[in-house]
Amino acid sequence: MRGRTAIVTGSTSGIGKGIATALAEAGVNVMLNGFGDAGEIEALRADLEARFKIGAAYHGADMTKPEEIRDLVAATEARFGQVDILVNNAGIQHTDLIEDFPDDRWDAVIAINLSSSFHTTKAVVGGMKQRGWGRIVNISSVHGLVASVQKVAYIAAKHGLIGMTKVTALEAAGSGVTCNAICPGWVKTPLVMAQIEARAERDGISIEQATSTLLGEKQPSEQFTTIEQLGAAAVFLCGDAAANMSGTTLTLDGAWSAQ
Ligand code: NAD
Repeated sequence: MRGRTAIVTGSTSGIGKGIATALAEAGVNVMLNGFGDAGEIEALRADLEARFKIGAAYHGADMTKPEEIRDLVAATEARFGQVDILVNNAGIQHTDLIEDFPDDRWDAVIAINLSSSFHTTKAVVGGMKQRGWGRIVNISSVHGLVASVQKVAYIAAKHGLIGMTKVTALEAAGSGVTCNAICPGWVKTPLVMAQIEARAERDGISIEQATSTLLGEKQPSEQFTTIEQLGAAAVFLCGDAAANMSGTTLTLDGAWSAQ
């Protein structure tokens, strides 16, 4: 994979950061994206370059804005020549019952967790097909397979992303380009820590107790999936062993969706 180039959206934190690091370790140049402290993002970029002898750059495109997404792709092509691997990872969460769910939170979750992947894919898939090689990895969720209460926008977006994965795979079939979705269960990232903290406050329990009930309710292994495991799964999907795997899901959910 050395010399290939990847865009990983939402790679300044959590799962995206883990996948960008795993791809860099495999020799892939990476375009980082996402929000956060400028100094910390620059430290991550410089660390990836120094540790893995690859090229790493950063673009701050807001995934709610199609013109900024197109500029992210153009900047990656200008810096590295082409985009070989696209990891659609940026995502947010909002929890409320449907009757209380704010319209602007619905719009934001759908824009970031679903529509952004349409805009990135649209900008890169034609070039991948022409060159005869490409990998698109969509970070869906166990919530792309099954539902939970109070997550209507997230679950609609994650199910939609699996649909988009299938269409992309069909349209690219036989071209050397594959598209698959990764479906994690609970992963201990800032996105989930916010839910654990809200649960601890709501129920008047400790963070440890809230963590244990959150895992116990849904994830039979009672272990978090790690960002390293998800990084390795993404590297697998980008490798030759997965060349004939397309339009499907790779689920790392501690048996959640087996129930
Ligand atoms: P995180 O909050 O740690 O990271 C989210 C990333 O997305 C950050 O880099 C953030 O800056 C970026 N981002 C948010 N809004 C953005 C925007 N408008 N434009 C550009 N970047 C933006 O969350 P995470 O847990 O690492 O989640 C990453 C992905 O994995 C999401 O799609 C999430 O739905 C999915 N996922 C997470 C879990 C979990 O348990 N943590 C489980 C299943 C799926």
